[in-house]
Amino acid sequence: MAPGLTEDDLTELSSEAIGSDDPRPYIDRLVAAVDEDRLAEPDLASYALGLAADLAEGLHDGDLALSLSERSGTAARGSRDENWTRARHAELLLRFGREDEGMQELHTLRPQLTRDEMASIYVTEALTENGRAEVAEEWLSSALATAAEIVERAGSGPEADEAREIESALAVRRFHVRRDLGLPYDEVDRIAEQLDDEGPDYIFWPQAAFDRLLQAQPEAAEELGATWDEHRAMIERDLQESDPTDLPLVEVGTPDLLAALLADDADDSVAAPEPGFELEWPPGRNDPCWCGSGAKYKKCCLPRGRA
Ligand SMILES: [Zn+2]
Repeated sequence: MAPGLTEDDLTELSSEAIGSDDPRPYIDRLVAAVDEDRLAEPDLASYALGLAADLAEGLHDGDLALSLSERSGTAARGSRDENWTRARHAELLLRFGREDEGMQELHTLRPQLTRDEMASIYVTEALTENGRAEVAEEWLSSALATAAEIVERAGSGPEADEAREIESALAVRRFHVRRDLGLPYDEVDRIAEQLDDEGPDYIFWPQAAFDRLLQAQPEAAEELGATWDEHRAMIERDLQESDPTDLPLVEVGTPDLLAALLADDADDSVAAPEPGFELEWPPGRNDPCWCGSGAKYKKCCLPRGRA
């Protein structure tokens, strides 16, 4: 009997599907691998079904996405992925118009905010991805107040350390949500900003900005690529090769950020620029390419990333 599919095999299947004309056969293959028990480890079932649900979501097939993510949740029951998988299902429920069920699921997960360091991400992402950033901000603020009380009571020791980590994660996540909402900085944001060392993996520079940057700082070619084509290809390639559930963070460089970079040596009185906005990837094959060239994605950076 052939050895079963590993986590890497599943991830690769899903990446191929994203670059293909029709992801449906890939969805079928992922589901068949689960149904026919062809996984290297049985606890990969939830992951395989989750990837299939992501692909179905990309096709805007709500019924399929929801039935797959529900199966993924059932498969994850009792494992450490259980809550994350449930939050992902809630996110899809909200996305495909089943608001009451989605919110109900999130309310049952809400207490995790003060118990699980990752909950600040998975619980609130379901909200922020579905136009409920204000609700996320409210939940994070109240969880943060509770977490601060827990830290105070815990004193010292491993439990207190864990409580402090949860408190930090909540503060940083709250800072991001508030920043995206355009809310003014408060005291906590100022501290959270110091804790938040997670910068983007890449900054993508639109063509004109790229040219200006390299002209002023030729040594930047080493990191950014020697030409704009190389720059685009490098980012596209890394996105295509990454686990679709854990894509590198790509920010689009803004004129503001460029000005700050170019002014860097001469003038350090320039205020910190707003961070660039996050690149949405991948675009649809026939949609305008993410690089801003105006060409269709399938004719522009999609093949560039494979070269
Ligand atoms: Zn392009």
